[in-house]
Amino acid sequence: MKDKIKDFVAKMESEIIKFAQDIVRIKSYTGEEKEIAMFVKDKMIELGYDDVIVDKLGNVIGVIGNGETKILYDSHIDTVEVNDAKEWSVDPFGGEIIDGKIYGRGATDMKAGVAANVYAGYAIKKLGLDKGKTIYVSTSVMEEDYEGKAIEHFSEEYNMKPDYVIICEPSSLKLALGHKGRAVFRVDMPGVAAHGSAPEKGVNAIYKMKTVIDRVEELGKKFMAMEGEKGALALTKIESEAVSINAIPDKCSAYLDRRLVKGEDEAFIEKEMEILLAGTDATWETYDKIGKSWTGEELILHSFLPCWEIDKESKLAKASVEAFQELNEKKPTMFKWDFCTNGVGSAGKMGIPTIGFGPGDPKLAHTRDENCPISDIIKACEFYTNLVSYL
Ligand SMILES: [Zn+2]
Repeated sequence: MKDKIKDFVAKMESEIIKFAQDIVRIKSYTGEEKEIAMFVKDKMIELGYDDVIVDKLGNVIGVIGNGETKILYDSHIDTVEVNDAKEWSVDPFGGEIIDGKIYGRGATDMKAGVAANVYAGYAIKKLGLDKGKTIYVSTSVMEEDYEGKAIEHFSEEYNMKPDYVIICEPSSLKLALGHKGRAVFRVDMPGVAAHGSAPEKGVNAIYKMKTVIDRVEELGKKFMAMEGEKGALALTKIESEAVSINAIPDKCSAYLDRRLVKGEDEAFIEKEMEILLAGTDATWETYDKIGKSWTGEELILHSFLPCWEIDKESKLAKASVEAFQELNEKKPTMFKWDFCTNGVGSAGKMGIPTIGFGPGDPKLAHTRDENCPISDIIKACEFYTNLVSYL
């Protein structure tokens, strides 16, 4: 099969790369993905996908086959913004190819993955590898700000229950076994308002927050000093409310960014927060981020994104190693991402075996002159195509 896949993908190479360039040229900031979504949908139809769905949120999901084993490949089509276009050495939306690399915003994160993914679906169908399988190729919206929500959304809307999920985010063609989780909390400290000329009549909420700030700093340092896999805690923003700048503030809010490792679930964090706020009258909650998708659908991200990690001995991990090895005659390198992906939805929240693999260097994500080697896109396409036979 290896040779058939390599031949097929090699024949498609110019078409795959043209598609990657086309989608880099379409600006698709989070929440503004309509144009690219329609472009990808048309491409899936043109390639003969069995079904192409656009869910309420605006995710585009191509379907191939109708077998029992359900495999989902996920790539997101939104990107972070470009606010330093003048500093780029190329047009961030030019999709230029220089020295075998495609350049532009999203080239790495992750339109290269989208191109590899969409054409892998086509290859799977054309080579008849979909027997006994249902392949979903999701090109998801709003990942950059709402990690995990897209997969949760369409899985629920269409009652899709994938057995395996492959996150096609950039990994330099290494196998990503998971990543840390991330959470954001808001701590509210009450005070008593008073005129600035008579502070003794009020209680300054900012001064009261000092106890919490000191404890957060201390715990943050403890994490830093730990060895091995460790969480992290940082205070990232402070706000206060007062009737005027001449008044004693009656409310102070602090935002905490917490990076999560294995075992740090919501119950664990609740205990940690109890200790952090003990003896004060502060309250806290997990921050809910609210946004709108390009279809006008409201989206709420409960900012508790659990850590996930796949067992190396699991069927999906072993299948991925074998599929890679067959194509490349060596074992893949394994690592963990240090950023969050839609895997927090599939693995962290839904408990579906999930693994990551994608073209491009993850370090170039969100950077100036972001680029991805064409050879990575081709190799990722081969891998996605080959993997279905091992599952
Ligand atoms: Zn990404």
